[in-house]
Amino acid sequence: MALTLGRFVVHEVLGGAFALDGGAMFGIIPKPVWEKELAPDARNRVPIVSRSLLVETGNKRVLVDAGPGSRWSEKERALYDLDPTVEIRSALKRVGTDPEAITDVIVTHLHWDHAGGLTFLDPATGAPRLTFPNAVHHVQRRNWRWAHLPTDRDRKSYRPEDYDLLEQSGRVHFVEGETEILEGIQLLPSDGHTVGQQLVRLQDGGETLLFCGDIIPTSAHIRTTWGMGYDLYPLTVIEEKKQILAQALEEGWILFFEHDPRIAACRVEEKDGRAAAGEEVHF
Ligand SMILES: [Zn+2]
Repeated sequence: MALTLGRFVVHEVLGGAFALDGGAMFGIIPKPVWEKELAPDARNRVPIVSRSLLVETGNKRVLVDAGPGSRWSEKERALYDLDPTVEIRSALKRVGTDPEAITDVIVTHLHWDHAGGLTFLDPATGAPRLTFPNAVHHVQRRNWRWAHLPTDRDRKSYRPEDYDLLEQSGRVHFVEGETEILEGIQLLPSDGHTVGQQLVRLQDGGETLLFCGDIIPTSAHIRTTWGMGYDLYPLTVIEEKKQILAQALEEGWILFFEHDPRIAACRVEEKDGRAAAGEEVHF
C-alpha cells in the first residue's frame, strides 16, 4: 500500500471520484480516439479520480492536493457525478493518518477539484472549517493572485469559498517560483494549464517521482498533443510536457497521475520515437 523512495514513504490517497466531459478532458483529440482510453457514459462524461499523495518523512506528513471535497449541492453532485462517500478526510484515515496530523499541504493550484477538500462544513454548526488545521499550506503566489482575479474563461474553475477561510487563518505559505520546501521535495512552477500551477518532485535514494498535477492528468495525456480543453495556454502545455518527458525518460522518473482512474503511476518509455506510458508502478 506504500512505496519507499529513500527517506520518503509515499501513499496514494484516493480522495474523490467524479466525471468530467470527455471533450473538455481531451481538448482537440477526436472522440473516436480518446474513447478507447476512457469510455464515456451516456452524458459523454469520462470517469475521473482525485488521487492525492501523502509523503511521510521524519516527523512530517506532507499531503499534495485535497480533491473536490464535500461542499456540493445536489445539482452539482449530479452534474459531476460526485461520489459523496469518497473525500479526503475518510481517504486519509484509510491509509492510517488523521487530517490533524498533516504538517504540510502542497496545493498544486486552486481549481475546485484540487482545493475543494481544504475545508469542510462542520456537521454541528454548518460553518466551514479547515480540514488540515495544523498544516502549512504551500501555494504559488501567482496562482493565489490569479484565483482571485480569473478570466471569464476560467472563472468557474476557481471558487473563493475553497480558500477564503485559509486566507483568514494565516496558514498559507506563499511560494515564489521553484522552491525546495523540505530536503528532496521540490515545487516546480508550470504555467500552461493555469497561471502558477506547481508540480511536486520527490528525489531520494536514486529515485525521482513527479506529481504531474494537471499538466499530465492521466497516463493517456503523456502524448504531447493530448491536452485538456481547460488549459489556458495549450502550446505552453506542449512545451512543458516535452521537457518533463525528456528528463523522465533519461533519468527513469516515476510519473504520478492525479486524475487517472486506471493507474496511479508509471515510468516512461520510448515507443515509435516518442515518450509513452511504460511499466506501471504499484503502491
Ligand atoms: Zn486544474
